[in-house]
Amino acid sequence: LVSLTSWYKMYPPQFEELIKELARLPGLGPRSGERIALFLLENGEAEKLAQAILKVKESIRHCPSCGNITDKELCRICSDPKRDSKILCVVEEPCQLEAIEKTGEFRGRYFVLRGKITPWEGKETRSFPLKKLMEKLKKEKIEEVILAVNEEFTALYLGKFLKPLPVKVTRLGRGLPVGARIEYADQATLLQALKNRSEV
Ligand SMILES: [Zn+2]
Repeated sequence: LVSLTSWYKMYPPQFEELIKELARLPGLGPRSGERIALFLLENGEAEKLAQAILKVKESIRHCPSCGNITDKELCRICSDPKRDSKILCVVEEPCQLEAIEKTGEFRGRYFVLRGKITPWEGKETRSFPLKKLMEKLKKEKIEEVILAVNEEFTALYLGKFLKPLPVKVTRLGRGLPVGARIEYADQATLLQALKNRSEV
């Protein structure tokens, strides 16, 4: 039996490889990688997990219209004719979209940046989602853009980017504690923030 206290370099190379892969995942490190690898080994969960990952890789794609994840041609929101196409909510990741959907209040559509905008990234990576956003705004005659992003720089940058355009730009209102992540906010708080949104 492998002792939990032994360092992973003593494991067989395949096992080390698994620990390294797990350790690279967000929020994990070598120690949690080791714990999870041992768990997978001891509990017979490895196959189920591997299959679930492969299935996702094969069947899930990004919606070409909004960037949300989907197993269809268009995501469930873009393909729903009852959604209001004049209001667009911009989020960084699909997890924020899901959080806002859970409030049941928002009837508009979304645009998923698939990342945050940072001051140090190159102009090219930054311009990729912005170009798509710009095309969408022009094509779909959107009247209001709600910025529902976690990162302050992303919000400021988008606010500035959208300013010259003939579109109302708002941000989620107070109620959301400073530094709180949208995807972890409870529904009542998020609902309040959505209702109290104010113009940028
Ligand atoms: Zn979509």
